[in-house]
Amino acid sequence: MNEAHRVAVIEDDPQLRRFLTAGLEAHGYQVSCSESGRAGIASIVTVKPDVILLDLGLPDIDGTALIDEIRAWSQIPIIVVSSRIAVGDKISALDHGASDYVTKPFDMGELLARIRASLRQNIRTSGTEPTFTVDHLVVDLLRREVRRDGALVKLSPREFALLRFLVANADKVLTHQMILKEVWGAAHLHDTHYLRIFIGRLRQKLELDPARPRLIVTESGVGYRLRVNRPEERMVAATGAAAHAPA
Ligand code: CA
Repeated sequence: MNEAHRVAVIEDDPQLRRFLTAGLEAHGYQVSCSESGRAGIASIVTVKPDVILLDLGLPDIDGTALIDEIRAWSQIPIIVVSSRIAVGDKISALDHGASDYVTKPFDMGELLARIRASLRQNIRTSGTEPTFTVDHLVVDLLRREVRRDGALVKLSPREFALLRFLVANADKVLTHQMILKEVWGAAHLHDTHYLRIFIGRLRQKLELDPARPRLIVTESGVGYRLRVNRPEERMVAATGAAAHAPA
């Protein structure tokens, strides 16, 4: 890594702070820790991190409210790291503007992959990348063309709008409501059956095995993610086994 990316950790559990700091520093990140929401905000203002790791259960302020505060003035990627595993908590955090969500106990390799994805996401939204390539697929956003192994794929305007939104947010979890609002409009926030049908059509056209999608993956009960980064496969390929973080 040329220039160390800065990670702000907002977490009240001292053991977890030490674990995260050690794991992140070992991978070249510069880490600043805060043990409360208020201290976290102050640290974000001074440190200007590239990504924020946020616990939801903090002593002074709820993490979701903290996301609102940060989003009022900053688009820094926020990855929620929480022991709240209910789908409702995930949806709420994402709808409030979190970029991603990792459940405790987490796998350090997975967390690092999410951090890399968030950093890329930040670059992608600030720059203009007209062509997007993943596996056998090339999406040309300017020409509105999609090619699969070089062959042109015909998509309806709505299918393309859906794919474009997924591509613009690659590796990020998008809730049903976020997608419905963007692609169908605010009047269709509850029409999740539209979404299911169109996701099915995109998978038929784009996935190698539509019954076992690897590109457009379901985040159970929450939404969908266009998966570009596949940490577990790379880790297995690189080390022969995935290393797991303690609970
Ligand atoms: Ca906590």
